[in-house]
Amino acid sequence: RSELDRALDLITEIPDFPEPGVIFRDLTPMFADGTAFVHVVDALNEAISDDVDRLVAVEARGFVLAAALGYARRIGVALVRKPGKLPNVADRIDYQLEYGTATLELPVGSVKPGERVAVVDDVLATGGTVAASVELIRRAGADVTGIAVVLELAALGGRSRLDALPVHALRTI
Ligand code: IMP
Repeated sequence: RSELDRALDLITEIPDFPEPGVIFRDLTPMFADGTAFVHVVDALNEAISDDVDRLVAVEARGFVLAAALGYARRIGVALVRKPGKLPNVADRIDYQLEYGTATLELPVGSVKPGERVAVVDDVLATGGTVAASVELIRRAGADVTGIAVVLELAALGGRSRLDALPVHALRTI
């Protein structure tokens, strides 16, 4: 197996979290392993096109990945947050979860018109989180050129919600 496969094999399955019947994929052992983290970040970096000039990530695990990628590329990261955390909110969006709704907020000045943006996250599940981030980026006048995630849960259909945007997952299950 490749170094990347070995890194992704550190992701564990936690049954019945956060509620009965759901299998949660826990990426924390992968983040905690220095060699695995390097291989995962390198693979995400290769998946993102060279002409991207901004990364957008959603808290919290997306921040860890995007920070490493932004440093490697010398480009900035827009930190999309859950509500109530930001003092200067440029825009906010409400979106549907499997049960209920959620809100994401974009900080003032973090995405500029005309920028080419890649969205980074740990897991693509239903796609609601990434779709909401894409909408915030577009409303700010920037272009989303692609989406890079570590793990895609294909059965939840996230990719089909992201209208023809290129989605690169390091592993799809
Ligand atoms: P979605 O909006 O349904 O695609 O869910 C994706 C968001 O929820 C991401 O920001 C993930 O961090 C988180 N998420 C969903 N399922 C899992 C999981 O099994 N493990 C870790 N994070 C998850």
